[in-house]
Amino acid sequence: MKKGAQLYEGKAKKVFATDDPQLYIVDYKDDATAFNGVKKGTIHDKGIINNRVSNHLMKMLEKAGVPTHYVEEISDRETVVKKVKIIPLEVIVRNIAAGSLSKRLGLPEGTKMRSTVLEYCYKDDALGDPLVNDYHIFALGAATREELDLIASYALKINQLLTDYLKDLNIELIDFKIEFGKTDDGTVILADEISPDTCRFWDSVTGEKLDKDRFRRDLGNVEGAYQEIMKRLLGE
Ligand code: ADP
Ligand code: UDP
Repeated sequence: MKKGAQLYEGKAKKVFATDDPQLYIVDYKDDATAFNGVKKGTIHDKGIINNRVSNHLMKMLEKAGVPTHYVEEISDRETVVKKVKIIPLEVIVRNIAAGSLSKRLGLPEGTKMRSTVLEYCYKDDALGDPLVNDYHIFALGAATREELDLIASYALKINQLLTDYLKDLNIELIDFKIEFGKTDDGTVILADEISPDTCRFWDSVTGEKLDKDRFRRDLGNVEGAYQEIMKRLLGE
């Protein structure tokens, strides 16, 4: 696999072409941002941890029947993935109230909700990724009804699989964000990453936050929390 030209540099990852037109290489950085890029910093070794954690979870999901972009981890920070056209939606799944949902609905953080909440945000940094519903999504042409139905069913299945898997590691899955993309033949697959940057993980015994909220809220021991997640998931 030959690494080609850099196609994109985002806030947390770079994306490269390869000599195979159907494959990309993603390269994870230590850069951290929050509040739509307003707060900036670095988290030592975050790129390594997120690369490994995301690949570990995607492999687990793939085995359980969820199609993902994961192909092969080629270094600490680099992974070969299937090239997709990203569907411009942040798909958010919530089990416990936290973050923006707590603010919007006046629910104290940690409130267990009666049922799982599924939300969509339109991926547009200039607009601050606004919350949208299915009517907005069809009107914008971001996805079709069939695609959105599939995305919703994958998102709920991923929630169940991740919740069960993390429970045994004493990690409570509060909420998370995922992205989907379409391969050239139109197949919808899970893309991007699943990591402490994109999930809220709380220690189920102590309630300690083990995710990016430590960076967002200046809670200290940010690196330690990321290391702890890698240790529990990968044993190192
Ligand atoms: P952002 O763009 O929000 O700053 P990142 O720094 O994580 O985010 O950049 C990675 C970019 O690559 C994102 O825009 C993401 O949607 C995109 N991406 C993730 N997986 C794939 C894939 N398999 N094929 C194409 N693009 C992808
Ligand atoms: N999230 C994310 N990227 C975003 C926005 C949210 O990965 O651009 C994740 C976030 O880490 C959390 C979940 O989605 O696990 C819900 O986030 P929320 O809407 O509460 O936003 P926040 O308060 O984190 O900005």
